[in-house]
Amino acid sequence: MKRIIDRYSSKGDGPLVFVTAAVHGNEPSGVRALEEVFKQLRASNASINGTLIGLRGNKVALQKAVRYIDEDLNRTWKPKKIVKLIKDTNEELEMEEIIEILDMELAHHRGHKAYFLDCHTTSSRSAPYMSVQVKNDNDEWAHKFPTYIVRGFSDIVNGSIDHYFTDRGLTGFTFEAGQHDDPASEKHHQSMIWLMLKEACGLALSRIATYPQCVESLKNDAPDQKTFEIIHRHEIREGDDFKMKLGFDNFQKISKGEILATSNGIELKSTWDAFIFMPLYQGQGNDGFFVIEEV
Ligand SMILES: [Zn+2]
Repeated sequence: MKRIIDRYSSKGDGPLVFVTAAVHGNEPSGVRALEEVFKQLRASNASINGTLIGLRGNKVALQKAVRYIDEDLNRTWKPKKIVKLIKDTNEELEMEEIIEILDMELAHHRGHKAYFLDCHTTSSRSAPYMSVQVKNDNDEWAHKFPTYIVRGFSDIVNGSIDHYFTDRGLTGFTFEAGQHDDPASEKHHQSMIWLMLKEACGLALSRIATYPQCVESLKNDAPDQKTFEIIHRHEIREGDDFKMKLGFDNFQKISKGEILATSNGIELKSTWDAFIFMPLYQGQGNDGFFVIEEV
């Protein structure tokens, strides 16, 4: 399994669009979407200003269809870990390889704008949404795309890859396309990559043989754009027996007094009239749930 899925450019000079997929190994949807986009770009001999490059995130975990091997690759992007010379975990090695490729690409595209997109899916059902760090021109860029926007995730959770990309001067966001096993998630990933190529590289979408279906899924399935901010995070500490109450969808409305989860046998009740965000329904992970409100 190669790190680089593919790379495409037609006119050479122009922006860099750096897309990562399967940073969580149990989320292959973005990889398949990239493969399809590259296939269609080549089939249409499409003209783009700049370069699209697609990478596999956590290769070993992807091969085993697990979220991660030793640690979450979306939590390792901390300065201390990045400068470490000897890499002790699978994820530190994966991170080092991705940084090497990014370094080369940025050097190669010096003087041009660089964009990133990090493709994910969620354990619970969810409307597609972008997770945006409000820094540089990320937020402005995100508002060009037609899905929900959640601000502030990577400011609360340390070591996410999108935070690192932003620190390196790239503009972009994480895109959560829907539930892991929902076939629509792959379509949403495709749509987002196509729309990014249109905005960043001036791609004429109508030249793509599968247009307009290739971008329709987001228009049809995504609710109208809304912007949210995170107001609470429930962190699961080592040894906690955490159980999310069953049946929550992402972005579901919650009310004051409503039971959200149990932790060590104690009921966790909402103190907010707001929305639930990223309720945890899988074994691995230490974020139980978040609470968000509309801006
Ligand atoms: Zn993920």
